[in-house]
Amino acid sequence: ESPEGRKMLDFRGSLPASKEKDALLTAISGNQVVIISGETGCGKTTQIPQFILESEIESVRGAVCSIICTQPRRISAMSVSERVAAERGEKLGESVGYKVRLEGMKGKDTCLLFCTTGILLRRLLVDRNLKGVSHVIVDEIHERGMNEDFLLIVLKDLLPRRPELRLILMSATLDAELFSSYFDGAPVVHIPGFTYPVRTYFLENILEMTGYRLTPYNQVDDYGQEKMWKMNKQAPRKRKSQLASVVEDALRATDFKDYSPQTQESLSCWNPDCIGFNLIENLLCYICENECPGAVLVFMTGWDDISSLKDKLQAHPILGDSDQVLLLSCHGSMASAEQRLIFDEPRDGVRKIVLATNIAETSITISDVVFVVDCGKAKETSYDALNNTPCLLPSWISKVSAQQRRGRAGRVQPGKCYHLYPRCVYDAFADYQLPEILRTPLQSLCLQIKSLKLGSISEFLSRALQSPELLAVQNAIEYLKIIGALDENENLTVLGRHLTMLPMEPKLGKMLILGAVFNCLDPILTIVAGLSVRDPFLTPLDKKDLAEAAKAQFSHDYSDHLALVRAYEGWKDAEKDQIGYEYCWKNFLSAQSMKAIDSLRKEFFSLLKDTDLVDGNMATYNVWSYDEHLIRAVICCGLYPGICSVVQNEKSFSLKTMEDGQVLLHSNSVNARECKIPYPWLVFNEKIKVNSVFLRDSTAVSDSVLLLFGGDILRGDGDGHLKMLGGYLEFFM
Ligand code: ADP
Ligand code: MG
Repeated sequence: ESPEGRKMLDFRGSLPASKEKDALLTAISGNQVVIISGETGCGKTTQIPQFILESEIESVRGAVCSIICTQPRRISAMSVSERVAAERGEKLGESVGYKVRLEGMKGKDTCLLFCTTGILLRRLLVDRNLKGVSHVIVDEIHERGMNEDFLLIVLKDLLPRRPELRLILMSATLDAELFSSYFDGAPVVHIPGFTYPVRTYFLENILEMTGYRLTPYNQVDDYGQEKMWKMNKQAPRKRKSQLASVVEDALRATDFKDYSPQTQESLSCWNPDCIGFNLIENLLCYICENECPGAVLVFMTGWDDISSLKDKLQAHPILGDSDQVLLLSCHGSMASAEQRLIFDEPRDGVRKIVLATNIAETSITISDVVFVVDCGKAKETSYDALNNTPCLLPSWISKVSAQQRRGRAGRVQPGKCYHLYPRCVYDAFADYQLPEILRTPLQSLCLQIKSLKLGSISEFLSRALQSPELLAVQNAIEYLKIIGALDENENLTVLGRHLTMLPMEPKLGKMLILGAVFNCLDPILTIVAGLSVRDPFLTPLDKKDLAEAAKAQFSHDYSDHLALVRAYEGWKDAEKDQIGYEYCWKNFLSAQSMKAIDSLRKEFFSLLKDTDLVDGNMATYNVWSYDEHLIRAVICCGLYPGICSVVQNEKSFSLKTMEDGQVLLHSNSVNARECKIPYPWLVFNEKIKVNSVFLRDSTAVSDSVLLLFGGDILRGDGDGHLKMLGGYLEFFM
């Protein structure tokens, strides 16, 4: 036994989960379902699957076991399997493996598999009884993701058919009773943990302590925009959102008279809609200069604000690439080399700063964190069934999340947590976050229910831990029928079956499929990727005219989608000459978004290959890529029934949808700048209700395109292949 191995064993033995090993194994062997809760970092994910593995190997029966442990995100499935293999002194793919979308490492001896929830759901598609599987562990159930809630219904149905199968549910926070009663009083084993005290600072305390002053000018949440504003020294106009209203009530009801006049003034300027990059920079400097050594973990909302903040900090003399600071990021789409760095301890005298999404809240433990900075927000989808309108926006986290974030600071020694919002705002947070199944559109979920042959959608969903509103379910079914994914009897069509293989919104999946079938895939890949990242066209308010003029170069055909395609193609050419960044700067484009589109395009292409709709040869699928009429038609077909009519008046036009009546265009749309739209219809990607209903990303289409391409134009032939209904291509030739 090597000294390394000895050290690893000691480390494993020291984790709180190890002390409960016997109790855990007894509970698991005596019950079909067991719920395990324990603080983040106590060893649930890495240890419990190993306990089961070891006890099965040692058992007199010498039974061959097969353990599946699901993770809500691919990044945790990969990093955890790597860690567990290392703890066992093995290479990944021996007894321990992983499988995530498009990637995996698994050998013939693999008996402990970490995978995403989506992968297990897909396995259930072909193997309804999970033949040969001895244990299913569903991790992070407290997150209440849609896939996890869905999987629990499926597994609950499976248990009576597989009496020897063991189901173990693991959760970070103590909401265990809910799960226990869902599984007929299944036992709960709690792993007692230990953390050091964490001192908590809210915004008012941070302002007092650092002396930093907030002004309307210095709270900008995009580095690129901030640079542009700085050049012109103009204040960003204060945006209003739903986020603000909860907060404003809380602020109005609070007085800060115990604080210095400076702090009071700062608080009155605080903009709850922004994550103040300058404030964060200032606070990080303060920590570096005044606090003891220890890593800093900064919670941001997503990949886009992490990368903008990272750009900004990198330009800073201390926080950037210096010999004092190691600046890293931790989010769902990071490369695995970067992933490993976040676990390593840096050299002496170097402070590690990790910018993370809420991945680092419970699923990834960075062990040497002493300081936590919490922006108070996370990206969350929400859905209003009445208006049938989804949105994806950063929103305030729950109290439980804020406590989780705070707890990350007390793992190795007493720590400190800085919340970038006032205490009164924290007090206004909800206790728990609403489960995803209650706040997002159910279209993809309904498709999955159908692909798993689980019977009536609404009957099935009525058996969920918490059931979604009937209206939300009906909207989703109706939508799937309209786009041709379900037939009149709620059965999957051939198109529907293809869509279940593309893990994205059905409308985006449909557009991709159409792009492949109609051989105009290249621009469609760009559009679908573009709709999955944030708006790549920047509009700094003080340079609005310049930015609009720049965008106008790309748009002379009443389509935001085609404008995006041109902007991307221009960037691609500029990249070849290594002037991509200058190109973005000149044209008011976000370089980050362009890069994101580039990599998503590749990912989507390999997904399409998985569905057998395309082979590796991209050229075949591009024969019609330059036919703008065809692309417009494909956009129309993908976005239908997202459609509104254009009513042309003397000097302007107005827009109407069936459900909302009058609607408006988002000011970023190229169509918002036109006074005449010589087409009778607009198809749109998204509508957002603020006070009025606004449409984002629209493309104008003609009567005949709408007639031919609205709705359901793809049919399966007898062999289950997709064919377009006859005559469409002739229409263009
Ligand atoms: P839980 O699932 O209960 O939150 P984990 O099993 O993920 O806890 O982690 C247990 C401990 O193992 C953590 O305290 C962490 O410090 C350590 N650990 C986990 N993954 C890694 C890794 N990849 N590298 C180093 N240490 C790790
Ligand atoms: Mg875990």
